[in-house]
Amino acid sequence: MKIIMLGAPGAGKGTQAKKIAEKYQIPHISTGDIFRANIKNGTELGKKAKTYMDQGLLVPDELVCDLVVDRLQQEDCKKGYILDGFPRTIPQAESLDAALCEIGASIDYAIDVEVPDENIVSRMGGRRACVGCGATYHLVYAPTKAEGICDSCGAELILRDDDKPETVQKRLDVYHEQTQPLIDFYSQKGVLKEVDGTMDMEDVFTAIIGILGA
Ligand code: ADP
Ligand code: AMP
Repeated sequence: MKIIMLGAPGAGKGTQAKKIAEKYQIPHISTGDIFRANIKNGTELGKKAKTYMDQGLLVPDELVCDLVVDRLQQEDCKKGYILDGFPRTIPQAESLDAALCEIGASIDYAIDVEVPDENIVSRMGGRRACVGCGATYHLVYAPTKAEGICDSCGAELILRDDDKPETVQKRLDVYHEQTQPLIDFYSQKGVLKEVDGTMDMEDVFTAIIGILGA
């Protein structure tokens, strides 16, 4: 099963992708997580990506596409995968299509998690990320057991630089301009499925299972 998660930043793609990956036993591939790991490790890619991420801009396609295509060739992707945060532009979607076409494959589902911009601003303001393992929480909707401490690894939680209000609006503008056109792109391919992302996390997940099958 090859799945793409679509939706605005903060719509809940990562939250749902983790649950889907666990249920269907497929790898969860998040380009945002890959970039953040590179930044943490001080790699050249991380240094380049950070300059764009901090401004709420997309990392250029040429730094993203090869990275994902290489990742999809790894052994664990043979039985499928869930892509979270990729593709984010039409050229990225075309490059993914070309790579899949070469092996006679295609995307099975593009799940669009729909959340209006007004809700996004409060979601992102309350999101907290673990500096150790990258796990994501929310001050109100997904709190940790002990305040400010990751449930999984015990490290400190932070507000991501790109979740600060001034950057969130820029990311939303970038989403509408560059990523939203993918909804039509995948609709035309007949694989688009829309889910109401304003529901509780568990209800969103139930709706997604309804689409993918139990
Ligand atoms: P994305 O991967 O699309 O950027 P996340 O999955 O990180 O979004 O979710 C953004 C924030 O909103 C996180 O803090 C997460 O805990 C919270 N969240 C996710 N889904 C829901 C939901 N259905 N209702 C309320 N909060 C949610
Ligand atoms: P995310 O964690 O998916 O919200 O991604 C965080 C940031 O990483 C984005 O705002 C972009 O700057 C960058 N990024 C992640 N995925 C991509 C992508 N597919 N194309 C371009 N930039 C990306």
